[in-house]
Amino acid sequence: MMRSDRVLKGLPELYQMDRWLEQDDLPCRVHTLTAIEMGNDCLPVYCFEMGSTQPTAPVIIFSGGVHGVERIGTQVLLAFMHTLFARLEWDESLDDLLQHVRLVFVPLVNPGGMLVRHRANPNGVDLMRNAPIDAQGNVPFMLGGHRVSRYLPWYRGRRNADMEPEAQALLNLVESCVLKSDFVISLDCHSGFGHQDQVWFPYAFTPDPFDDIGEMFALRLLFRRTHPNFSFYKIEPQSRNYTTHGDLWDHVYRKTLHRRKGVYLPLTLEMGSWLWVKKNPLQIFNSMGIFNPVLPHRHERVLRRHQCLMEFLIRAARSFRNWLPHPADRRDWMHQAIEHWY
Ligand SMILES: [Zn+2]
Repeated sequence: MMRSDRVLKGLPELYQMDRWLEQDDLPCRVHTLTAIEMGNDCLPVYCFEMGSTQPTAPVIIFSGGVHGVERIGTQVLLAFMHTLFARLEWDESLDDLLQHVRLVFVPLVNPGGMLVRHRANPNGVDLMRNAPIDAQGNVPFMLGGHRVSRYLPWYRGRRNADMEPEAQALLNLVESCVLKSDFVISLDCHSGFGHQDQVWFPYAFTPDPFDDIGEMFALRLLFRRTHPNFSFYKIEPQSRNYTTHGDLWDHVYRKTLHRRKGVYLPLTLEMGSWLWVKKNPLQIFNSMGIFNPVLPHRHERVLRRHQCLMEFLIRAARSFRNWLPHPADRRDWMHQAIEHWY
């Protein structure tokens, strides 16, 4: 694949995916969800699929790079994919696992934004504020999404305009999985908010609980019991941090709620970058330093830190029937969840 020098230097994450595509024996199916024109460059949004092709099989969707400055999300996913590819050469237990579950990776949703080091896509739209959904109640000024100008961060796009191609492509992909599969989890990797690593679930547009709150509580309990030494993740509804307009996960969740086949739990991993900045204050002078670990040892630590969570989610999806609340107990689980979080 021919890429300009600008892309080769400015987007090593895409370069790594291109190298994978050149392998004849890459153990996955690759699609281009959409492609973004930037001058003479055409930047693909790649989707890598591994495992079961049964439409009803449980699915886990990993995405990253929705915000172009948050490179570490993309890098965490690429590092995880590297490990899976290497394991598939020798690890029969992974082969067995993939007979029963499908893994879908979209490691770089916003290549244009990442190339020019912007949060938004090349049209100036924040893809996580772009869905047609308005928040209720108090929304933080600007940060919650606005329609003032595409030259300001957190711009939602014009009212009644189509969604941006990157957001629409991701939406279509997730929707097609949720409508057919018995169980879906998505994990969208971000960085930049807070002192600790957080796992958020819907809603972002309202402080009210979402329909699968009992199932979410069961997943949290399963994780806490299975991995008691990974207590550093704070797991809570996004609205406990702030509410926003246009959240893509709220939108796809609500859009599929009454048409879907099974359960869908959309998660966001928000890696707490303030911690990295606190330990190395000089990195705020590095243009990427507010959202990404800069020192090599810290970068490597972040790349490996979330592999346990991602492995856990794959196994939880594979064996969802063994821990998901029974329909008869659903109400009870919902009550427990609401008591815990609301
Ligand atoms: Zn983000």
